[in-house]
Amino acid sequence: MFQIPTWAYEFHGHKCPFMPIGYRMGHLAMQMLDVGRSLNHEMFVFSEMGIGHPQGCMQDGIMAATSATFGKGQIHKMFYGKVAAMFYYPGKGAVRISLKNDFVDKISPHEFFKLRKQGVKPSDIPTDIAEDVIKIVLTAENNELFNTKMLENFKFSPPLTSFSKAKCEDCGEYVFEHYLRKSNGKNVCIPCSGYENFENIIRPRIEIGE
Ligand SMILES: [Zn+2]
Ligand SMILES: [Zn+2]
Repeated sequence: MFQIPTWAYEFHGHKCPFMPIGYRMGHLAMQMLDVGRSLNHEMFVFSEMGIGHPQGCMQDGIMAATSATFGKGQIHKMFYGKVAAMFYYPGKGAVRISLKNDFVDKISPHEFFKLRKQGVKPSDIPTDIAEDVIKIVLTAENNELFNTKMLENFKFSPPLTSFSKAKCEDCGEYVFEHYLRKSNGKNVCIPCSGYENFENIIRPRIEIGE
């Protein structure tokens, strides 16, 4: 049976099946790309999940397995509402891994999800029920869980990194330089600029060639 370290459950906060699914997804991605954990900023993950739907727990599993973390700027969300992620390791390549529909259909009727739909929080679900559904995840073969595809011509231009900062001329708080905006001739931070649309600086720019 696949092993998930105890600290990963502690970090995640509760026992559920989707953190382990993400852990296995991240582990498989590292195997397929023949790489180890990202001690620094090596691998980028493009999570196809969105917000406002369940299963986001998967992303904590991906971080735990790979050490490609949100805090180190390695996790980007695509907001597609899919249980899938693309993993890109410069110099090694890219792979997309998605959870198979059949596996989703297999675990959906489990008592764990019945309770979740009734509004029971994951941490309040009896341990034996949570451990039972996790066991289904940990005993499955990779090909029962996932569809995988190497992305041959994947391109990603990471946002520019800059250590330069300046003070917003309105609120006085420090802002990293490339986030400063011009408003009435002053250099100001995004909230002070009144700009609502700043998506262009937070959405990743990727190309997936065929
Ligand atoms: Zn969870
Ligand atoms: Zn400001």
